[in-house]
Amino acid sequence: MNGRFWARYAWTGASEPGGLESGVLIDVSGGRIVSLQAGSAPPGDAVVLDGLVIPGLANAHSHAFHRALRGATQLGGGTFWTWRETMYRVAARLTPDEYLELARAVYAEMALAGITCVGEFHYLHHAPGGVAYDDPNAMGEALIEAAAQAGIRITLLDTCYLSSGFGAPPDETQLRFSDGSAEAWAERVSGLKERDHARIGAAVHSVRAVPADQLEVVGAWAAQRNAPIHAHVSEQPAENEGCLAAYGVTPTRLLADHGLLGPRTTAVHATHLTLEDIELLGGSGTTVCMCPTTERDLADGIGPAREVQAAGSPLSLGSDSQAVIDLFEEARGMEQNERLRTRRRGHWTADALLRAATADGHASLGWPEAGTLKAGALADLVTISLDSVRTAGPLHGAETAVFAATAADVSDVVTGGRVIVRRGVHQLVPDVAGALRQALARVAS
Ligand SMILES: [Zn+2]
Repeated sequence: MNGRFWARYAWTGASEPGGLESGVLIDVSGGRIVSLQAGSAPPGDAVVLDGLVIPGLANAHSHAFHRALRGATQLGGGTFWTWRETMYRVAARLTPDEYLELARAVYAEMALAGITCVGEFHYLHHAPGGVAYDDPNAMGEALIEAAAQAGIRITLLDTCYLSSGFGAPPDETQLRFSDGSAEAWAERVSGLKERDHARIGAAVHSVRAVPADQLEVVGAWAAQRNAPIHAHVSEQPAENEGCLAAYGVTPTRLLADHGLLGPRTTAVHATHLTLEDIELLGGSGTTVCMCPTTERDLADGIGPAREVQAAGSPLSLGSDSQAVIDLFEEARGMEQNERLRTRRRGHWTADALLRAATADGHASLGWPEAGTLKAGALADLVTISLDSVRTAGPLHGAETAVFAATAADVSDVVTGGRVIVRRGVHQLVPDVAGALRQALARVAS
């Protein structure tokens, strides 16, 4: 798409702190930013973005169907493991048609929140009982189509999931997740095609779900394609205990020993780590994706985000279980978790937190050309309104975005030069709440 946009303010500080400019004319050609010129008056032929413009947000870890659990799992206490039983009841029901409808609405909700790229950690592959659909990638294709209909980019992180715990076969629900072997997983995933808005990556669900002797097959598939590879790592102490009992090492050490860590890899959660785990993740340049709103919702604990970053890991952020879809909340949640843990403030600058939500998140999803406001980058522009009750008052650049704004303050969203959200209204899914209501009712019926 070609076009011309004028931003009242633009955060161009992805590489330098505090980079805030005003009156920025942004020319776009072929979906990419050609030039940015500050200090301009709005020309008549430009789309006016009347607020603080930041790059598109990357939601680096999502399970779209978990949206069906929002507000429905808060009674009766329990743990991560009892929550998972409820989640499995939803997983047991979805068809490809229902999943397309639900994911389209969820991704439209993400677009309204300024998310222009989602990393969908996708493991619901097969029909009930584990029977392959006529198109064995019918569920993945539904997610790719849903992203297209919602106007956002997607990295489909197709997930290998073979076992229930260490050495146990999949249970009845998990049969839908399993291809039987990593080789069969690789064969199926090789049938997925990339598109302008969609890239394909790999995922190891966890060391619980992929036996150690299968890990290298997944790693090799991703390495051949230079594709991202993600894994849930040490979200729960029980996973660490099971891994130590089965293999005598931590999950991080197991992944390292099988060649799975490195700059294309993202460890999701990384909540319960040893000092050696932190050195392995940081030293290999593995990204760590924190999901603070989910981690607090599921009583996981607080991961050592500060320590892994100091050891060398970039950080990204994800909405994971969709308890909340608000990347600003994830960014400030990471900082505020550290404040509660250490009783000190200021572990990251607002610029650094916004970089995790934009450039570093996109890099972890295999879109290094997105997430910054500079010439050559994909023209993904998110406008934060500055006249809401939350944001009114003096503008403090990234601090306003991370510590004052919420997803509800996003007014306009552009992906690849195309206007997806205008003045709070999704241009492709005009009634997102209605679409969610309808899709969720269908899943529940
Ligand atoms: Zn997850």
